[in-house]
Amino acid sequence: MQSQWSDKDAADYVARYAGQGVNEDLALRVYTTRLLGRDPKLVLHGGGNTSVKTVVKDQLGEDVEVLCVKGSGWDMGNIEPAGLPAVRLAPIRKLRALDAMSDEAMVNFQRINLLDAGAPNPSVETLLHGFLPHKYIDHVHSTAVLSLIDQPDGEALAREVYGDRVAYVPYVMPGFALAKAVADIFDANPGVEGLILLQHGIFTMGETADQAYGRMVEFVSLAEERLARQRKTRAAGALPGALATVAEIAPILRGCVAIARDANAGTVKRQILDFRTGPAILDYVNGADVARYSQIGVATPDHTIRTKNWPLLLPAPQAGKLDAWAGDVKAAVDAYVARYHDYFARNNARSVVKKTELDPMPRVVLVPGVGLFGLGASAKDAAIAADIAENTVEVITDAEAIGTFQPIGEADMFDMEYWSLEQAKLGKSAEKPLARQVAVVTGGGGAIGAATAAAFARQGAEVAVLDRDLAAAQVVAKKIGGRAVACDVTDPRSVRAAFDAVVAAFGGVDIVVSNAGAAWQGAIGTVDDETLRKSFELNFWAHQAVAQNATRIMQAQGTYGCLLFNVSKQAVNPGKEFGPYGLPKAATLFLVKQYALDHGKDGIRANAVNADRIRSGLLTDDMVAARSKARGLSEADYLAGNLLKREVTAADVADAFVYLAGAAKTTAAIVTVDGGNIEASLR
Ligand code: ZN
Repeated sequence: MQSQWSDKDAADYVARYAGQGVNEDLALRVYTTRLLGRDPKLVLHGGGNTSVKTVVKDQLGEDVEVLCVKGSGWDMGNIEPAGLPAVRLAPIRKLRALDAMSDEAMVNFQRINLLDAGAPNPSVETLLHGFLPHKYIDHVHSTAVLSLIDQPDGEALAREVYGDRVAYVPYVMPGFALAKAVADIFDANPGVEGLILLQHGIFTMGETADQAYGRMVEFVSLAEERLARQRKTRAAGALPGALATVAEIAPILRGCVAIARDANAGTVKRQILDFRTGPAILDYVNGADVARYSQIGVATPDHTIRTKNWPLLLPAPQAGKLDAWAGDVKAAVDAYVARYHDYFARNNARSVVKKTELDPMPRVVLVPGVGLFGLGASAKDAAIAADIAENTVEVITDAEAIGTFQPIGEADMFDMEYWSLEQAKLGKSAEKPLARQVAVVTGGGGAIGAATAAAFARQGAEVAVLDRDLAAAQVVAKKIGGRAVACDVTDPRSVRAAFDAVVAAFGGVDIVVSNAGAAWQGAIGTVDDETLRKSFELNFWAHQAVAQNATRIMQAQGTYGCLLFNVSKQAVNPGKEFGPYGLPKAATLFLVKQYALDHGKDGIRANAVNADRIRSGLLTDDMVAARSKARGLSEADYLAGNLLKREVTAADVADAFVYLAGAAKTTAAIVTVDGGNIEASLR
């Protein structure tokens, strides 16, 4: 591990924060906290914390000694002074005299001693920081250190590396008891530069930010050097010759790991999947012994709330035998759920305070020959699970290379998984209506597509923005936090590739808005075939290609689905010389009914929006100007030329798509969004 410390950067932090009234101690604490937090081999998604003891002025202008310690909800990689709330140190130190303290009392005590009532909750390891005397304390869950200490003889291995430079703390769950144990062990070893918390992580201490950080760099480097010596190689297991692809297997898996469903309501509590692969992951999932080493437990206790204690291990998927694999997955998920129920019942029985069982579905899935998936309620949560899974691959690979991976036992993992202070990290805000669903919007770079993509994102869906113009799709995707995918909807291979990309990104597809379209004109008696065929390619065949790909994925998932189409007023009420546009749109309107009829049995709904006179790719600013001028109207009056005299916008169309996506008992419906046009109204 390379030190990232720079005297110049440190001085810059001190100067920059001085302007904000932040003292040098805290400015440097921010600096090295970021250095640690930016290295995923040290700190991953909330694992780790830091502190500094300093003196600040309170509201009365009096000096008060405080502990500035990492607050919950802050990422160490981009922390600010506000992410290191100040807690009065004297009362914290006095707590050491108590014999025991409940978690709730500890959290409350920390809060009432904050200098800022609006500050985030200080870390669950605040007391540990407070009970030690050092000015700067750094704590991380280093990958290399965990490989060394997640072993049956972890303490002996660590002693071989660190000797008496650190003290060794047997596993105790974080909180008051751990803080007391650490303080007692430190008192017996007052000269140490750090602490090894077996099966948990490492602390380093120093009188300066530079010293504490430098010790961390040195100790992690020593662990890395030890892991590089006397390594055993891993034996590979047998794999079938040809393997199925991620695009083929992800929807099957996604259907099997859905958390709950209500067939009559037409609702499913789904998970989003994040796929990862690479040489290190494949070496791990393909190992002959993977069924042993992958099922022992988490690398460090706080991972359990993100990944559960063990991943779901599946058989390798053979190419061309997906039905058999789907059966294997279902059986493996059933076994996983049964194992989780047993684990919960066994451990809850010994719990003093009875717990409520969490959902029993896996958060990490290993697929030999292919890679691994992280699972979660959102793409963000799935990515966190996948990041931790990749980190776990590294910890276990290195642990097994020099010995045998052995983390904390089941009872300790249960206590951590069901610890209220850990569950609080996950938050409990209500989910948005389309959370856990993947929505694909074609023509996503245009006005209606962009408004629709944004509306679905606001409702909590993970959105894939498809457009022939990748740059246009990227602009929209960036704005809404979605995924841009290049797609020429008139090329079936491009459509297939785009859906494969969406499946690789999110695990499947639940909602499709087949929106891409363009208008061709010409009197039907004289228009050339080429114009008509071109329009049919985009305004009919592209809808069919998109809907067919979506249906294939939805059937593989077995968790219903929603097909939405942008049809047109032309499909119902032909406009003069708009035959080349209206004819394929009329066929697409019928396509909606056919999908509803043929796939209602799968719970797949098909609906459409019939919109008119909306500024978009179909009705450009130039066209609006020309048409309003030809009619002697202002642009606003032209656009509002409907029964309600209201201008209809792309956002109104987007709202109609969102409504239809949620209308679980509506299929084969065409919703008109045109301000009222009696000739185009549907009966
Ligand atoms: Zn920790």
